[in-house]
Amino acid sequence: MPLRFYNTLTQESEEFRPLGDNIVRMYTCGPTVYNFVHIGNFRTFTFQDILRRWLAYRGYQLNHVMNVTDVDDKIILNAAKAGKSLEDYTASYTKAFFEDAAALRLQQPEHVVPATKHIGSMVKAIEQLAARGFTYTSEGSTYFRIDAFPQYGKLSHNDFSGIRAGARVEVDEYDKADARDFVLWKARRNGEPYWETPFGDGRPGWHIECSAMAMEYLGQTLDIHAGGVDLIFPHHENEIAQSESITGKPFARFWLHSEHLHIESQKMSKSLGNFYTLRDLLELGYQPESIRYLLASVPYRKKLNFTFEGLKAAAKSIERLRDFELRLTSTRFPAGSNTEIADLSHAAIRQFEEGMDDDLNTAEALAAIFEYVRAVNTAIDEGRFQEENRWDAARVLEVFDSVFDVLKPRNGNGAALNGSSGKLAAISEAEIEKLINERSQAKKTRDFARADAIRATLTERGIVLEDTKDGVRWKRK
Ligand code: AMP
Ligand code: ZN
Repeated sequence: MPLRFYNTLTQESEEFRPLGDNIVRMYTCGPTVYNFVHIGNFRTFTFQDILRRWLAYRGYQLNHVMNVTDVDDKIILNAAKAGKSLEDYTASYTKAFFEDAAALRLQQPEHVVPATKHIGSMVKAIEQLAARGFTYTSEGSTYFRIDAFPQYGKLSHNDFSGIRAGARVEVDEYDKADARDFVLWKARRNGEPYWETPFGDGRPGWHIECSAMAMEYLGQTLDIHAGGVDLIFPHHENEIAQSESITGKPFARFWLHSEHLHIESQKMSKSLGNFYTLRDLLELGYQPESIRYLLASVPYRKKLNFTFEGLKAAAKSIERLRDFELRLTSTRFPAGSNTEIADLSHAAIRQFEEGMDDDLNTAEALAAIFEYVRAVNTAIDEGRFQEENRWDAARVLEVFDSVFDVLKPRNGNGAALNGSSGKLAAISEAEIEKLINERSQAKKTRDFARADAIRATLTERGIVLEDTKDGVRWKRK
């Protein structure tokens, strides 16, 4: 089965291929930098990272643009409260966002575009809309006339045909019941930041930034546009109206939306106050890899209920895979290659790929990996795993980790965040005892290189060995 995504626009699962060449032109809505983003937001950003990685795995080159919303009502209000300029206020939260993203091992999009650096493109887009008759002005603000775009509602699948012409909405966020002409440019207000334009001093509404920047960097038609489900209406509906009214072409071919992270059956959100930031969880002693794993493990179109049990289970799953990797690298196997294991490895990779190709079904992909680990552990116990099979198994883990990215030791970014030493996940006592036994055996047979290698492996996992006359003692560093 070829790679397929569920497209919100058509409400169908469709085969994906970029238009024309090998490059995927992708736009994702980024953070609003008025606070630390919470792990609900990071569920969406982690989904986008998984999407990126899977497209790359499938041989596509990415041209991914993500915006940073650094001017809007909330930001202006909070910056004023903090007595800071818009720039200073947003700079610190933008920095924090990228530190958190790095800790979660999110790959950087090819272009990260702050709204305030692209006001010129927005002004141009609004002028084009005005020239084509899609706008009107009221009290110094410019609005988009939704009755001039008959397809309005095609993404959210709402029929807005009965909407009263001329009714307006000034705020950027509202729901379907409030579908009205939306603001493109807000008139200057006392004490607020503003830009001078031919249609008056003021600042952009939220929606125009994404249309203008997406088209500036990626052209008139994108391959993929993604975001959380809460953005379908009005934000993405408005992006379509703005962009297609300018170009007369489809704005994005595939619209992908990730479901929310919930906590106690409610959407995690800043306004409800029921949120954890990444930093909160790191302070509680959780590892960024566990959080990444948890966020990635539930397919993106399913709601994910956040619990601490779930987070602990994620840590255990990673430990299981790391223990397996350690077993593979530190055990000595009989010479040769068992074709049964080679076949098992190929099948695991195929199942993993099938899961991911099916609209990024990470749960199915993970099931393939854990089933494989179980089967190979049994094969090792029964002496059926041979030296050359190491490479088959390594390949399976490599494929897994190219997407999930939780096995490798943490890089400096993550370690620096909570001041932890950047150690690997704790190794179990049973595994330690087993390796110590293997080391003693190696010494007995005068295989000192192997004995040293086992000690080094243990040291790397934070275990210190002490050879005493009563035997080997160990402790965690
Ligand atoms: P914001 O910073 O509010 O603009 O949101 C950034 C991204 O996070 C958007 O794509 C939102 O749809 C998404 N988002 C917000 N809350 C949640 C949540 N509880 N679960 C998943 N995604 C969310
Ligand atoms: Zn957007």
